[in-house]
Amino acid sequence: MRGVYANSEFQEDELILKDEILVGIQHSSNKVDCLVCSFCFRFIGSIEKQIGRKLYFKNMGLSGCCGGGGGDSSESSSSNHNSLPQGVVSSLMNGEMALPHTDKFPLPSPLSCPGGCQEAFYCSGSCAEADWESSHSLLCTGERSESISREALGEFIKHSNETNDIFLLAAKAIAFTILRYRELKAEHVNKQAKQSVSKQSLLLEAWKPVSVGYKRSFKKRYDCGGGKQKEEGDTQTAKGCIVNYWVKSPDRKL
Ligand SMILES: [Zn+2]
Ligand SMILES: [Zn+2]
Repeated sequence: MRGVYANSEFQEDELILKDEILVGIQHSSNKVDCLVCSFCFRFIGSIEKQIGRKLYFKNMGLSGCCGGGGGDSSESSSSNHNSLPQGVVSSLMNGEMALPHTDKFPLPSPLSCPGGCQEAFYCSGSCAEADWESSHSLLCTGERSESISREALGEFIKHSNETNDIFLLAAKAIAFTILRYRELKAEHVNKQAKQSVSKQSLLLEAWKPVSVGYKRSFKKRYDCGGGKQKEEGDTQTAKGCIVNYWVKSPDRKL
């Protein structure tokens, strides 16, 4: 049995813990349902935009992770008959139409990715910058991407979306490590440290946050090829499986 308990009293609305996300992604299927910041995962845009784009994707025949239930299908096919008047969806999306009381729930305006891809959006410049510096510069498919091959990256993303999007999360953890390694190496060169540090130890240092963050998932452990590995080797192994603990999605739980 596992549980959380407090050994001191907290006031209502008191912030108990604020922790930084090491790496996280929104499930690709969930992107149809909600527009969130690609770094901190808060909702962005407006209530109208959220509803408008959901209706837009539904009209296109795409549904998110929660719309595929069996009982749902008859309802959704009949709702096609009383579809909304033309223009409603677009005016919701472009901000021409305001729904009642939505001004009470303002959301940050979405910022596009600085690399120029159409995949990542942010709630703020600081989130865009933090994501770019921690991993997105190597995983961006836009014009200003720092990836060695945008074509190969595109293939990889397609493959992940078609098979298991845990690969995208693993890629984030690896990109994070590479960028941290480069940063540590540059710092080391700048300092002209007297004792030379091996590349290996810098790499291990860069990997440290991920290795420390590793915990066995308490709900479900993905078997992505590393399922047969020995338990004692787990913490040191950079297999895709080990990062599943950090998956974050606004409304879909693992
Ligand atoms: Zn954000
Ligand atoms: Zn990008």
